[in-house]
Amino acid sequence: MAGLYVHFPFCAAKCIYCDFYSRVRKDWTPYVEALLRELSDRRDEFVKMPGYAGHDVFVPTTLYFGGGTPSLLPAPLLARVAEAARETFGRPSCPAPTGHLFEEFTIEVNPDDVSTEKATAWRAMGATRISMGVQSFDDRHLRWMRRRHTAADAVTAFDRLRAAGFDNLSLDLIFGFTGLTDETWAASIAAAVALRPEHISCYQMTGRYAEPDEEICRRQYRMLQERLHAAGYGQYEVSNYALPGKESQHNSAYWAREPYLGFGPGAHSFDGDRRRSWNTPDIDAYVASRQGGEEWLSDSEVLEEKLMLSLRTVRGLDLSILTDDELCRLNKTTLEEFSRAGKIILEKAVIRIPEEELFVSDWIISRLFPEYTA
Ligand code: SF4
Repeated sequence: MAGLYVHFPFCAAKCIYCDFYSRVRKDWTPYVEALLRELSDRRDEFVKMPGYAGHDVFVPTTLYFGGGTPSLLPAPLLARVAEAARETFGRPSCPAPTGHLFEEFTIEVNPDDVSTEKATAWRAMGATRISMGVQSFDDRHLRWMRRRHTAADAVTAFDRLRAAGFDNLSLDLIFGFTGLTDETWAASIAAAVALRPEHISCYQMTGRYAEPDEEICRRQYRMLQERLHAAGYGQYEVSNYALPGKESQHNSAYWAREPYLGFGPGAHSFDGDRRRSWNTPDIDAYVASRQGGEEWLSDSEVLEEKLMLSLRTVRGLDLSILTDDELCRLNKTTLEEFSRAGKIILEKAVIRIPEEELFVSDWIISRLFPEYTA
């Protein structure tokens, strides 16, 4: 199923580890006007994609407000964008019912923005799911990261979201940074689990603050897997865990190479086949006149994407999605070697990476690329 992503590139302050495109500024209204123009300008884009022919896969069923920090904006501005997305892509010319509501509508929030009023307004505009950036339940680490909330603020925000009626909440955590001990990591995992969110995403720190000792990172990753499994969360992707039936539909569609449109500076779009395009990451240029670029994936790039995206998931790669040519080009010697070593599981027509090896999934996958040479 197709999805819509809307980028809100504004933050109250920059966190030390973040390289997403976002700026500390408040000129939100002209930005939202530009978003509404882009939504309108691209209203027929799904219909023009190769293979459309009224096919269900081109009906957007998920809407995702990401950032940056969408929760920073006044709720009425977000509501205008949600309404425009619904009106534009729920039109009768789509094979979706008139008045189409998104099956999953996620808003990314930061705990310090979650007032009772905003939580109620997000619910009222149709959001079904909230993804909250908590990152840690240790106040020393939160201060070091330059987050604007405390652990207690995150708990208060979580309670407000529940009180507003949200029954699908996701929390983000970060591990693998310098100074994170196993004890502190265990305490953060326990605090997250105690809240009983439906979904937990955990990302490994990259860049200059990353823990250089790979063994420590691997151990923290295994701790996370074991503790979340014990608490009833299933891992469905390298960084994502959910209670049964609460996997993110929007992100799952990315990994299945389904089509999506991204709106706002820096947002990317994909036609479900070979065309990837993007808007230039520059708020002022975007508001003045939207610009961007596009690329057409080569045969090799399509195969690499299929491997990279599907093997990140515990479901793995269904070989039936590969063309005969792609099947021939798989690096079979490495595949057999990895299979013997237990790094890859081959079951009927599915290849997958076992959970205990997901920590090094990028390394394993890159060696299956046809062009890989040691
Ligand atoms: S609030 Fe989120 S998007 Fe903004 S700087 Fe921090 S991590 Fe990055």
